[in-house]
Order: sequence, then C-alpha cells, then structure tokens
Amino acid sequence: MSRATAQPAVSYERRSFWRASLPPAPDRRGRELPARTDVVVIGGGYTGLSAALHLARAGTAVTLLEAHAIGWGASSRNGGMVHGGLRWGRRVLVRRYGRDLGERLHAASLEAFDVFEGLVADEAIDCDYRRDGQLVLAWSRRDAEGFSAEVASLAEDGLAARVVRGAELQAEIGTDAYEVGLLEERAGGVHPGKLVAGLAERASAAGADLHATLPATRLERLGGRIRVATPRGSVEADEVVLATNGYTGGLLPWVRARVIPIGSYIVVTEPLEPAVAASISPRGRTFFDTKNFLYYWRLTPDGRLLFGGRASFAPTSVDRTARILVRAMRRVHPQVRDARITHAWGGRVGFTFDRLPHIGRRDGVTYALGYCGSGVCMATYFGKVVGGMLTRGPGRPAERSPFEQIPHPGAPLPALYRGDPWFLPVAGELFRLQDRLARRR
Ligand SMILES: Cc1cc2nc3c(=O)[nH]c(=O)nc-3n(C[C@H](O)[C@H](O)[C@H](O)COP(=O)(O)OP(=O)(O)OC[C@H]3O[C@@H](n4cnc5c(N)ncnc54)[C@H](O)[C@@H]3O)c2cc1C
Repeated sequence: MSRATAQPAVSYERRSFWRASLPPAPDRRGRELPARTDVVVIGGGYTGLSAALHLARAGTAVTLLEAHAIGWGASSRNGGMVHGGLRWGRRVLVRRYGRDLGERLHAASLEAFDVFEGLVADEAIDCDYRRDGQLVLAWSRRDAEGFSAEVASLAEDGLAARVVRGAELQAEIGTDAYEVGLLEERAGGVHPGKLVAGLAERASAAGADLHATLPATRLERLGGRIRVATPRGSVEADEVVLATNGYTGGLLPWVRARVIPIGSYIVVTEPLEPAVAASISPRGRTFFDTKNFLYYWRLTPDGRLLFGGRASFAPTSVDRTARILVRAMRRVHPQVRDARITHAWGGRVGFTFDRLPHIGRRDGVTYALGYCGSGVCMATYFGKVVGGMLTRGPGRPAERSPFEQIPHPGAPLPALYRGDPWFLPVAGELFRLQDRLARRR
C-alpha cells in the first residue's frame, strides 16, 4: 500500500477549507420575495454578487437568487489564485477576431485585474488579498521554450515577467520537480470565502436583496418583462442575469449547451511549521504548472499548503481525488510528507468550446460565464460589466464589452452536447496521454 493510500480516508473534512474557516454568514434563507424588481440575478457567486453590487450602487433595484448558500459554488471552493489575462494572448485574439476586437478583448482581460484590485480596495473587502506574484512551472521542454515569447508579450503590456531556472528558481520554490518557471509579478492570492462574504455584505449594504436556498426554477417572457419562478413564488423583472457558470442548469438550454462543467479538486494540510512553509514558497508566490491535468498550489494565509488539480475528468469522489492529489503534493514537495490533510473538496469550473468567457443575451436574459477555471478576477469583472450594461441612465457605459461581441460557439455537432459532458472521460484520457508524451519529449 502506498503512503498516500495509507492516509486515513476519514481524517479530513470533506468541505472547502475556505468555507470552514469563515464565521457564520448572515441568514439569507426564507426572506420574502418582492413581486417586482428591476433586475433578477440568478447565482450568488462572484459574478452574481459583483453584478448585484454594481447595480445596487447605481440605484437599480436588484434581487439575487442563490439555490444554496451564498457563494456555495466555485466562488468559495477555488484556489484563490488571482491573475488577469485569458487562455489566449493578444496574437491569437487578433488572428481570430481581427485587430480592433482582438486588441479590445486583450485589453479587457488585463483590465479585469485592475478592476478586481480596485474593487477590493474601494470596498475595503477584508479578504487577505496580497499581490505576491505567481510562478508558472513548465511541464515540458516545449512549454519552457514558449516562456521567452510569453515574457516578450507581457513586456509589450508593460508587465514584469522573467524566466527563472537553477538557483533563481530554487529561491522561488522548494522543489526539484520542475526545471524552468515563468515568474509574473502582477498576480496574487486571496481568501476566496472572505471575498465572497465581503462582496455579499457590500452588495446587501448597497441595497441588493439577497436570497439563499432559493433556486430560480423557470423563466417566462411577459412582453418586455420576465417572470422568474422559484419554489416560494415568483418575481417579475425588466432584466435577468444568469450567473451560474459551472452550475448552469436547464433554465436556458441554449446557454447550457455552451458550458462544459469540469471538476477541479483541492486538498489542504494542517498549518505548517513556518520554516517548512517558507521552504515551499519563500516569497509567497502562487504556483501552477502547464500540463492539461494541471496542479495549482499555494500557501494559505494561515500557513497551510493548498494543493489542487484536475485529478479526474470522469465522475469521481472527493476521497479518490484527495488520494491522487496527496500523492502528487508529496512528489512535488516532499517536505510536507508527514503533514496531516485537514480538508478535501471539489467544485465545478465552467469551460467553453473556444476556451474564452462570454457575456451574451439569449431570450431576453443576459448571461456571463465560462471562465475556464480562471474566474476570481474575471467573474468579478464580468459582474461589473453586466451591472454597467443593465444600469439605466448616466452610469451606463457608452461602449459594448468586446466579450458581448464575439460568437459563442456550441459543440461542433450540436446534437451531441446539451449540457451533459459524457465525452469528458475520453477527453481526459487523451489529455493524460498528451501530458505523458509532452514530458517524455
Ligand atoms: C476547485 C476550484 C479551484 C479554482 N481555482 C481558481 C483559482 O485559483 N483562480 C481562479 O481565478 N479561478 C479558480 N477557479 C474558478 C473560479 O472559482 C470560478 O471561475 C468563479 O468562482 C466563478 O464564479 P461564478 O459566480 O460565475 O460561479 P459560481 O461561484 O460557481 O456560482 C454559481 C452559482 O449559481 C448557483 N445556481 C445555479 N443554478 C441556479 C439556479 N437555478 N437558481 C439559483 N442559483 C443557481 C449555484 O448554486 C452557484 O452557487 C476554481 C474553481 C474551482 C471549482
């Protein structure tokens, strides 16, 4: 039996450490639903809460419906790694969408980081945010070779980045598992649970009407308005925002067929001896590697090691993914071999077929989703954009967001995908093979 399998299966809590480390949230269950409002937001994560906050600040009446606890989805389960940018850089975006739109998409993806930092500062959200930089670790020689072009491209935007190896790499991370890294200064870490709690508190204080454990079950067009049904009655609104990302259900089948929910999983250790924690990340960087079955990891604000990864594309259990991640964590950082795991959990990220997030309108509903696993900044930013779009009067932006202007593709054969990602186990095996081959080369 391997050491990882020897880890007692019942010794950890099977829930997000972030949620477990928060004081109890205000009870937002069972509150009376208004008959009418200006905007209904469906989904109480970063996207929905940020939209609600910006709408309420602009004087718009907004009611937010969350099927579970506020922040129950990915927003209180993620790694808390904060970075701007998209999967595709400027060159790819310009090639795909033309110079004007490509440049505007790229600029907006960078702006997302500023908006995130600005929001945390302006709203004084206590969420342990620190801008300590991130280190991307090359899984293959090819990935390492691509880093120089990446540095040049970041430099075009005035962003500090450099390739690190040898002693310089050892000064950034305590591992022998990788040989080359790309260090980016404009990135950081946050306590995701505190962020979601802070956004909820600010949105509520600004006048947003937040409802927990109240799912939207049906949407009905009534002329220019929409009736949103819930198990406790319905509410009519001029506008509806769908902010459900990896938890998107059947309210809008067209949108559901454009989001692929994929599992991502995390384990967290007990607090480490300060010297051990410092040996892992001497400068407080966050880390992730470049493979398909990526690992991402960082120290938590109280000095634990958080280690996450895709672990499995097939339906699985938290115990199984925890075993996979603990094995990987010990390979990368043998210094935590004996650390106890205190929490293990998983959540859903929302992928799209073009690996870009999207804002759009369908059947009179505005949606914002598809962050492809990088949504801390982007979802918060999209909430602001959508809030601006639906604000009446002077607060409304003059220009449409570039994310509204790009096509939102579904599956190449639409009949084959309506929201149930049956193909993921097969895709997962292909990705795993690609990772192995890339490393061997
Ligand atoms: C394990 C994990 C690690 C991650 N790590 C990172 C990271 O380090 N950095 C990063 O940038 N991103 C990360 N992400 C991605 C990031 O967390 C998400 O992109 C982001 O939280 C999306 O926010 P959201 O508000 O759009 O969706 P969510 O936070 O998922 O919220 C959607 C909400 O909609 C609700 N809902 C669904 N249907 C209905 C309905 N009918 N009625 C009412 N409510 C409904 C759900 O209950 C859910 O709470 C990670 C994600 C996961 C799962």
